[in-house]
Parts: sequence; structure tokens; C-alpha cells
Amino acid sequence: MSLFVASRSAFRVAAPIKRTIRSYATEPKLTPAGEPKKGGSGSGSNSGALLGLGAAVLLGAGYYFTSAGSASSAAKLAEEKVKNAAGEAAKKIPGAEPKKAFAGGDQGFLSLKLEEVEIVNHNSKRLRFRLPEDDMISGLPVASALLTKYKGPEAEKPVLRPYTPISDEDTVGYIDLLVKKYPNGPMSTHLHDMVPGQRLDIKGPLPKYSWAPNKHDHIALVAGGTGITPMYQLIRTIFNNPEDKTKVTLVFGNVSEDDILLKNELAHLENHFPQRFRAFYVLDNPPKTWTGAKGYVNKELLKTVLPEPKNENIKVFVCGPPGMMESISGNKKSPRDQGELKGILKELGYSPEQVYKF
Ligand SMILES: Cc1cc2nc3c(=O)[nH]c(=O)nc-3n(C[C@H](O)[C@H](O)[C@H](O)COP(=O)(O)OP(=O)(O)OC[C@H]3O[C@@H](n4cnc5c(N)ncnc54)[C@H](O)[C@@H]3O)c2cc1C
Repeated sequence: MSLFVASRSAFRVAAPIKRTIRSYATEPKLTPAGEPKKGGSGSGSNSGALLGLGAAVLLGAGYYFTSAGSASSAAKLAEEKVKNAAGEAAKKIPGAEPKKAFAGGDQGFLSLKLEEVEIVNHNSKRLRFRLPEDDMISGLPVASALLTKYKGPEAEKPVLRPYTPISDEDTVGYIDLLVKKYPNGPMSTHLHDMVPGQRLDIKGPLPKYSWAPNKHDHIALVAGGTGITPMYQLIRTIFNNPEDKTKVTLVFGNVSEDDILLKNELAHLENHFPQRFRAFYVLDNPPKTWTGAKGYVNKELLKTVLPEPKNENIKVFVCGPPGMMESISGNKKSPRDQGELKGILKELGYSPEQVYKF
């Protein structure tokens, strides 16, 4: 596969940084489990300060490499190792492939117990639900979501809303949902009101875009707010698999810095896969110290950082609030109908086949 610098986009923008700010590390060496080897390359931030797009400066991910971020990443890594060891152990018992909790078809809803709640920021929580059996994995195919169901005491009908777990598909025993609360939003309010011990009806999988390793040379992910969760599922899958060499460019728009979800996880990946993963953050309401892009995700930014439409084997994924979707790609018509390709991506010359709306 051609290297980072060979393509346009993040990689083109990165070139001047490469010369002026830091030398890029070489591709990190992977252990059989796909983890970069300790002491290998990739210790520097991919992001640093990014050079401007006119007056705008695009990127600020280097910001995230604080000691707090590193400590949290280290804790997460340790947690991941324990989890993976458990998963591997389950797989090693002869004839004991982990059972998949979500079978689809006529399985219907599973009633899952909420085990743990973590407040992530001013409007988001991580909710951990136990799978029906301790040795089960979610087994969700990538990319796919889960459907939640809740009927309020006064409601005539239940509300149904999709969510994408942020835990790995082979995590044993539980799934984690990252949920942002919307004012008066029935499902997100219910989820935020839940306490450990309560149960939620969840079914799946809700198939989205079917991923296979190296299906595309380069994918671009344009996300707004909680639109990051389906993107993160793809990102995790790609970088957990040492055989998958796909390059990934993420453009992630949020209102304020506090709203950026999964920032330590993304920074960790960007740090460990500097040849293949770039993240560009855009804030509508940035702090004074912000060195990334400001405002909304716009045409100029996307033209600069996305892989060009003339590259044949690329795909651009879009997920975010309806206003953002309309401006970037047009909204989906329905869960099964991608609708017309409109907006910035159409203006930049992408074909409907090159774009997927979550
Ligand atoms: C494939 C997929 C995966 C998703 N995964 C997640 C996830 O992991 N975590 C998560 O928190 N949400 C996720 N969502 C969004 C989620 O399904 C709900 O739409 C959201 O939680 C709001 O539901 P609600 O019933 O509380 O509010 P609703 O009554 O549906 O909406 C309340 C208000 O918020 C607006 N709104 C709804 N959804 C969004 C949005 N995504 N962004 C901005 N404004 C919105 C509505 O226009 C309305 O004004 C996902 C959506 C899709 C399509």
C-alpha cells in the first residue's frame, strides 16, 4: 500500500508539518495481538499544531497528549489487556467459541441489566450493560448498531433508538454505550435516568456498512457529536487487526472542547498509528487556546483533508446531527435508503457510491 505521504488530504496537509514540526515515526511494529510494541515508534503526537487553511488552523489533537490523558490511556490499555486475555481464554477452551448475545432474526429484544454508569462530561454518560451470560460477547458484525426500546409510563407507544457500542465486539460479558442526553429526548433522558440494576430492552444487530479488512485503501470519517460512535467502531476494528492496512482520516466537529467524546482513545490511536490515522477536530465554540479549526465542518477543510474523489478505492462515511448531515452529504431518506447525495461532498465531486451515511 502506498504510504501516508503519497495521497492528498490529511497526508498532504501533514507534509509541511512533517518537515517543520516533527519527523513522522515509522509504522509501529505490531505484536501478534495487533498492539504496537512497547518502546516502538509512535510516541509523538500526530497532530501537534496544524498549519492553516488560510487563516484557519485545522488540527489540535496534539493538545490531548497531556499526562492525564496518558494515565487514562495506560489504564485503558491495562483494562483492554485483561479483557483480551479473558476473550482469548474463552476461545482456547476446545469447542467453546464465545457465544454471541445478539443473534438477529427473530431473536427479539434482550432485557439487559445496567451494571455501571460513568459520567463522561456535562451531557454524556457511559452505560455498561451485562450480556445475558458472563461468557458471551456481543458478536456484532462491523459496522452495525443495536436498537433500544423504552415505553414511558405515560407513553402510548415505545420509542426505539439505535446506539453503537464503544466496547469491542469481542469483549466478554458486557457492552458499553456512550449516550448523550438531548433536552426532552425520550430515550436519551431515560438512559441518563437509569441506575445500576435496572434493565433495558436491546436488540441487534442493525446492520450498517459491511466492513472487510482492506476493503478500501483509505476511508474518511466525517462525524459530529455522538456521530463518532459508529466511526469509532470502524476505527477500532481496523486498528485492532494487524492485517488491515486501511488509512483513516477523521474529521470530528463539536460545539465545545468538552463535547469531544473518546478524545483520549482517538489520541492514543493517532499516536500509535501515525502513518495511517489522522484526526482533525473542529469546534464551533472553541476556547481561546484552541489551535484546531473553528466553526462548522466546511468545504475548504474537507477539500484539503479528505482523500480526493478521483482515488478509486476510497469511502467517505458521514454521521452526525441532521443539520450537519444535510450540509455535508444530505440526510438519509430512511434507515434503508441512503437518499440523494447532496451538499459539500457532492460539490467536491464524490459519487454516491463513494459515500455512506450512517
Ligand atoms: C446508527 C446510529 C447510531 C447512533 N449511536 C449513538 C450513540 O452511540 N450514542 C448516542 O448518544 N446517540 C447515538 N445515536 C443517536 C440516537 O439514536 C438518538 O437519536 C439520540 O440518543 C436521541 O434520542 P432521543 O429519543 O433522546 O431524542 P429524540 O427525540 O430522537 O431527539 C431529541 C432532539 O435531538 C435531536 N437529535 C436527535 N438525534 C440527534 C443527533 N444524533 N445529533 C444531534 N441532534 C439529534 C432531534 O432532532 C431532536 O431535536 C445514533 C444514531 C444512529 C442513527
